[in-house]
Amino acid sequence: KAKGAGRGTYRIFEDSMAAELQERIGLETDLRGALERGELELHYQPLLDLTSGQLSGFEALLRWKHPVRGMVSPADFIPVAEETGLIVPIGGWVLRQACTDAAKFPEFTKIAVNISPVQFAGGDLAELVRDTLIQSGLAASRLELEITESALLQDSEAVIGTLHRLRALGVRTALDDFGTKYSSLTYLRSFPFDKIKIDQSFVRDMAVREDCLAIVRSVAQLAARLGMTATAEGVESGAQLEQVREAGCTEAQGYFFGRAEPAEKLGRWFGEVRPRLVVTN
Ligand code: C2E
Ligand code: MG
Ligand code: MG
Ligand code: MG
Repeated sequence: KAKGAGRGTYRIFEDSMAAELQERIGLETDLRGALERGELELHYQPLLDLTSGQLSGFEALLRWKHPVRGMVSPADFIPVAEETGLIVPIGGWVLRQACTDAAKFPEFTKIAVNISPVQFAGGDLAELVRDTLIQSGLAASRLELEITESALLQDSEAVIGTLHRLRALGVRTALDDFGTKYSSLTYLRSFPFDKIKIDQSFVRDMAVREDCLAIVRSVAQLAARLGMTATAEGVESGAQLEQVREAGCTEAQGYFFGRAEPAEKLGRWFGEVRPRLVVTN
């Protein structure tokens, strides 16, 4: 009897694994053609300079409009793209599209683009960035590349070499999602980033957790000492904005200011009606 139940459980387990694998293969197959079919789009989310109260730029965030599944989150398909190597052509497209859009609109100020660790591993990223800047006509000083800590874990000599070549081009660099993974201070010592982006999980829990607030404060102070910008991610309310500003963050991003939107919907940021922050300090 027990044996039978065991077998049943096992079969259910097997079935769900098979379904998961099927799902995964389906996603992978669809992703292969997504770029050619024009299903990928970039949306842009505003970044606010807390010292001037003005727009400081936009982060490009990838969107996949799947004909059947609807919007697929980058959290779901970026890992698939990374495992299959598809992130290389997709990431190249993202860079080209973001630079072209930003070159078209000078009001865009800075444009931040996420770079996958896989893009660091293969090919010459600095060369790709240089060529893309030339082709799009975007000034290097207007481009910022966001890199997560996991990019620095791999062959760090090579990665740091690439980062230095990017910097020599005049491109800015930001350490993204700081505090989520390894957060070794060695990274900050081995490479001078222009910006630290404090992960949204800290901002979310700041109001209810002393330790989160303490971490945000310390990272903001550290950034200031090292001459870096400290950006708070995931600011969703006026109260959180006040808190991150008091904690010493000099830039903020989050739904409180705006979600990521297609380029043609960003007009409100550029025109007369551009919302301004009230700066109190
Ligand atoms: P990320 O680079 O840390 O981007 C910030 C994410 O937080 C975005 O999610 C954004 O929509 C979300 N976000 C912004 N403000 C708020 C807020 O106030 N509250 C909450 N709850 N969320 C907020 P998204 O667009 O789903 O992207 C998720 C991640 O996927 C990104 O995290 C990034 O790591 C990756 N990603 C997105 N686009 C690209 C891309 O073009 N290339 C690569 N390699 N990765 C990308
Ligand atoms: Mg990012
Ligand atoms: Mg982030
Ligand atoms: Mg993130």
